[in-house]
Amino acid sequence: MGHHPLVRGDENARLYQYEQAVKQAFAGIEAVLRQLAAWQHESDFVGRAQGHARATLGFELPAELLQDTWIQALDTGRLYAWCVFETFRRMSAEFFEQRPLAVEGAASFHAFLQQCGFHTLDISPCADGRLAHVIRYVLRLPHEPVRRKSYAGALFDVEDSLEKWVETEMLRQREGRPNAADAPTRYLKVAVYHHSSTRPDQEGCAAHGSDTRRAAQGALERLQAFRQGVENSFCCGASIDLLLIGVDTDTDAIRLHLPDADGAMDVDDYIDANELYHATANAAMGDAEATVQDHLRRHCSAANMTVPAPGMLRLAARLLCANLAQIDYVRRYHGGRYADIGHQERFIGMGIGFEEVQLRNLTYFAYLRTVEEGAQDLDVGIKIFNGLNVRRGLPIPVVIRYDYHGQVPGARARAEARCQQLEAALQQRYHAYVEQGLLHTLLMVRDCHAGASAEVVGGSLLCSDQEVH
Ligand SMILES: [Zn+2]
Repeated sequence: MGHHPLVRGDENARLYQYEQAVKQAFAGIEAVLRQLAAWQHESDFVGRAQGHARATLGFELPAELLQDTWIQALDTGRLYAWCVFETFRRMSAEFFEQRPLAVEGAASFHAFLQQCGFHTLDISPCADGRLAHVIRYVLRLPHEPVRRKSYAGALFDVEDSLEKWVETEMLRQREGRPNAADAPTRYLKVAVYHHSSTRPDQEGCAAHGSDTRRAAQGALERLQAFRQGVENSFCCGASIDLLLIGVDTDTDAIRLHLPDADGAMDVDDYIDANELYHATANAAMGDAEATVQDHLRRHCSAANMTVPAPGMLRLAARLLCANLAQIDYVRRYHGGRYADIGHQERFIGMGIGFEEVQLRNLTYFAYLRTVEEGAQDLDVGIKIFNGLNVRRGLPIPVVIRYDYHGQVPGARARAEARCQQLEAALQQRYHAYVEQGLLHTLLMVRDCHAGASAEVVGGSLLCSDQEVH
């Protein structure tokens, strides 16, 4: 299948290779355990099981989970959770050591952003795992300079964003990072909601009852509250720019709600990247972003709205062009529509961090500092995993993570303590699951300042023959 004429370069093969390798590593776990369950009464079970695990999963299993299976049934649930955690640990280590999704010219991204009039790009997608690839795949952005913080229904925490805004402006004042405070650029906050074009009433956003308009409206109101918060809290014309994007989780095509010259957006008016894809299918190759900018100007004139500032127009065109590449990707490798349009996440990621998760339908995010604070997001995640795992007797794997800034004295110890507090609170909230062996945890911390790999610091399944990595 040929490329769309406005899609430049070919990242798709590389992105697909990575997606497949990781997805298959997780997908292979159940088949291995099914095989082990069939072999458990055979005399050479342990040796056979280890050989099979090594050959198919690439690692051995903890010996104590394989012992005594002639007396007691193999504890498939524990093994399952252990394998999910080990697969994630390996994927995470590879991500930080080998940088499989690194973008060439990521440094020039800051320059581009500033030319568009922005010094920070802060994106809050819905916590739904079907949007976890929004940065690196759907919008083709470099993941390092973009801030991502997910919330159920894209209903991000306004105070947390305000804090980030203050921190950003402070760094500009004191250190001139990423640019000087007097440069005429602004903080750009993006909220990303989602819907399903195939089954809009069932596979949309769980936090908004699969009501697409409500999801868009909810995210837009949060954006407006954040801007109002900045304007009311800081004088001297302090303000931010906003952008609202919707993703069709079946095809990855975006809806971009273009702001007008005053920065106002309309939930019912958007550029549909899928329509753009078809409308420009025969466009001449050449300056793709200029072609899309013309399209956007025509859209404004047809919708009777003012054209946004040139920088916003340029950024919107770039995001739409990037999404055309992702539409090509889904057409080429997934027949234009994902087979797994519903939830297929493998684990819940809870706490602060998870930069390494840039893939679709792998992780349900619950970003939180305390379980009480994020209880609603966590409940949505547990509900999703009731359908995916518990219904079949499989446990819910929860990776608890706390990223810390290693240059701050004592930060690592506090991150570790945070992980343990989160684990205790999680186990208390869902004690019925824990008692039935249906909830397992892995605790990890990471020095994000040093760009280091994540380290395992605990969990419910650490076995005696296993060291903490
Ligand atoms: Zn959602």
